[in-house]
Amino acid sequence: MAEPWERERSRMVEEDLRRRGIHDPRVLDAMAAVPRHRFVPEEERPHAYEDRALPLELGQTISQPYMVAYMTQALRVRPTDRVLEIGTGSGYQTAVLARLAAEVLTVERIGDLQGAARDVLEEIGVDNVRFRVGDGTLGWPEHAPYDRILVTAGAPTVPPALRAQLADGGVLVIPVGEPDLQELVAVTRAGDDYHTTALVGCRFVPLVGDEGW
Ligand code: SAH
Repeated sequence: MAEPWERERSRMVEEDLRRRGIHDPRVLDAMAAVPRHRFVPEEERPHAYEDRALPLELGQTISQPYMVAYMTQALRVRPTDRVLEIGTGSGYQTAVLARLAAEVLTVERIGDLQGAARDVLEEIGVDNVRFRVGDGTLGWPEHAPYDRILVTAGAPTVPPALRAQLADGGVLVIPVGEPDLQELVAVTRAGDDYHTTALVGCRFVPLVGDEGW
């Protein structure tokens, strides 16, 4: 039964990702390897390899594959990196990051969602992820600094705690803007200097918390 999914996944990688400009071979390999259908609700499985966001429980969404690949490419993850992810959601993006990094630490405010994500990640053999339920706008200070930080919910501004927890030379990728429309930005840190680059328009569910909405 695995084969039809694999065919659909290869089609997604070729047509929706490579042809639309995703070029990092490590990112394309990760997208070709992670079984997205395992992370979407049962009734959405037939759509698992279409290039669109799909509904999760409690009004949250699993991001569109192109956006997952785009954000991952923009993050420039190296094999030795420790990555902080805010917004575990389904765990799909977590699985992609886990293939590229040494370790992923992921924070989600909704415990039930993270519980389900954790089960799937375990079932597919991902073992380099640490989980925390809480407000990710405050980061995860106990394990800071992080080489890379990825936020997968839309923020009003870049949360100061996340800037502070970014390692020197690190990269933070985050959607910033209005609750229903944002711009993806990359923040790079060099000492006490932070440089922000605007990347692309996007639409994520709101980042809800002390330093969010
Ligand atoms: N990367 C996920 C996207 C999930 S949507 C995926 O592909 O499945 C964004 C997630 O961010 C939601 O699950 C939402 O509950 C979570 N979220 C929103 N605000 C948060 C906060 N302050 N801390 C942690 N998670 C948050």
